[in-house]
Amino acid sequence: MFSGDGLIPRLKDLYRRMDDAYRAIARDVGFSCEGCDGVRCCTVDVTLHTFVEMFYLRRGFNSLNPSRQLEILGRSGEIVKAKEEDSLGPCYRNAVCSLNFDGLCSLYDHRPMICRLAGIPHFMIRPDGKTVESVGCSRYMTEVLPKHPELKLDRSEFYRSMARIEIEVVRARGKRTRSRTVAETVGREDPEQQLP
Ligand code: SF4
Repeated sequence: MFSGDGLIPRLKDLYRRMDDAYRAIARDVGFSCEGCDGVRCCTVDVTLHTFVEMFYLRRGFNSLNPSRQLEILGRSGEIVKAKEEDSLGPCYRNAVCSLNFDGLCSLYDHRPMICRLAGIPHFMIRPDGKTVESVGCSRYMTEVLPKHPELKLDRSEFYRSMARIEIEVVRARGKRTRSRTVAETVGREDPEQQLP
């Protein structure tokens, strides 16, 4: 039976490369998340698109102490319910990621790619050759962009590496894993650590 365990070293190596690239830019331009409550980045829309990231996030969740797990399960359950009831309503839209406690991620070491790369403007060259760009967070745009208007983090290789890992998962399991938000990934019991 397929297990995601064998993929974790590769995912961790990919995360390390992302972190290195991100930190290098942040250091060069003097950008930091310190003091930010993360509410604008840690939204309920943060979504994981690959089995391997979900698997790893759940690994982190399972390592937390039971009382923190229960808190997260409760929060995630409320978020999922609010989304099901009205994904455009204030109850869901105003909620914050269930892993954010006092501005800090309770699964920082296990956080997904989208969280690791948030904040700094980026571009990505798609397989069809088109380039997609996006802006940074409000702090970056206010404090850093005026001094470094051309600077952008290239995410292309990170996305490609993640896709290569996920293709192996799909081949081994014979199916794709549907995308899930953080709350949908950790917000239910999964004793076998195998997402459907
Ligand atoms: S997983 Fe962590 S970093 Fe990502 S949105 Fe949730 S609290 Fe924020």
